[in-house]
Amino acid sequence: MASVSTEKKGYFGEFGGSFVPEDLQKAMDYLEEQFIKYKGDPEFEEEFKFYLKEYVGRENPLTFAANLTEQVGGAKIYLKREDLNHTGAHKINNVMGQILLAKRMGAKRVIAETGAGQHGVATATVCAMFGMECIIYMGKLDTERQALNVFRMELLGAKVVPVEAGQGRLKDAVDAALGDLVENYENTFYLLGSAVGPHPFPTMVKHFQSVISEESKRQILEKEGKLPTAVIACAGGGSNAIGAFAHYIKELDVRLIGVEPSEAPTLSEGVPAIIHGFRCLTLLDENGQPKPTYSIAAGLDYPGVGPEHSHLKVSGRAEYVTATGQDALEAFQLLSKTEGIIPALESSHAVAHAVKLAKELSKDDILIVNLSGRGDKDVEQVFKMLNDN
Ligand SMILES: *Cc1c(COP(=O)(O)O)cnc(C)c1O
Repeated sequence: MASVSTEKKGYFGEFGGSFVPEDLQKAMDYLEEQFIKYKGDPEFEEEFKFYLKEYVGRENPLTFAANLTEQVGGAKIYLKREDLNHTGAHKINNVMGQILLAKRMGAKRVIAETGAGQHGVATATVCAMFGMECIIYMGKLDTERQALNVFRMELLGAKVVPVEAGQGRLKDAVDAALGDLVENYENTFYLLGSAVGPHPFPTMVKHFQSVISEESKRQILEKEGKLPTAVIACAGGGSNAIGAFAHYIKELDVRLIGVEPSEAPTLSEGVPAIIHGFRCLTLLDENGQPKPTYSIAAGLDYPGVGPEHSHLKVSGRAEYVTATGQDALEAFQLLSKTEGIIPALESSHAVAHAVKLAKELSKDDILIVNLSGRGDKDVEQVFKMLNDN
């Protein structure tokens, strides 16, 4: 697994840290201590690897997209197949790691918040698997829009709590979950869904998602005998991207490229600020409040981004670019037609940029695209979008 920088208390340059009320800080300190204790424990590591193999279905392939490469011309395009994981995306890597930690910590309850429902479903899945009580906070408005995901979570045995406060959206669900944690942190584990939030979450989520690049590095060396020219991943909160980058960060010849939606260009246009308990690049409105964003890919719709990405951007180690919803929609169809792989709309942003970049490079170049998830969940939405136009 990647080395992590917990020594500096969760700072990545000027970003990260923990800016939370005192009683919540106590819960974060306890979590940090437990995470450090178990991440170095070979038995814990072995257990994590066991469930990644037997339950998640790792390792997943690094597929050469021969047809797409031929059609586009230029660099060879490889796909890291997170879409083939159980539940169809990379999120399961992180929730698996965190549920094993929760178990070791003796937690009796697991809580999480969810917007569109994907993280809630992933959390409910591992709670069912390990027989843990699971409470998912979700904005009331979101529960109405995502009724099918609410049903999925309930089917998996979770209790979904609709949050009526505020606007009944993700932010209100976060507040409710944090309130629960402050009250109950001695027996409750807050399972966070992306590489965001106060320390130690960004470091912990990276640790569990790093398996993506640990595998892809070994796989590309086996297949090509050399490292890729670039690794490309979509970035919402940044968990699949940091996992896809982790083992290449020190390989300075490998370009790291994060792709954001043009409609939520946090890294491209954001400014340093504190949101949700940590410092990152973020989009603010005129009043200095987190700006509402809209992306056709629900998983990318977040006004902030992980602190390590903020640092990788400012330090110049990684590049961040944007793709529009329209670009993603075209890539969604292109990959489906050429390779028989329907990508998630989130991942389609990364595919869109890879296609653009491949054309500018030569046949000796190699691109690895992190296919963060499969697109079955998006087919109905794409059907509507294509038929409304
Ligand atoms: C949730 C999700 C994302 C965005 O989350 P990150 O933390 O930025 O990785 C991307 N792709 C898929 C398929 C998702 O489900």
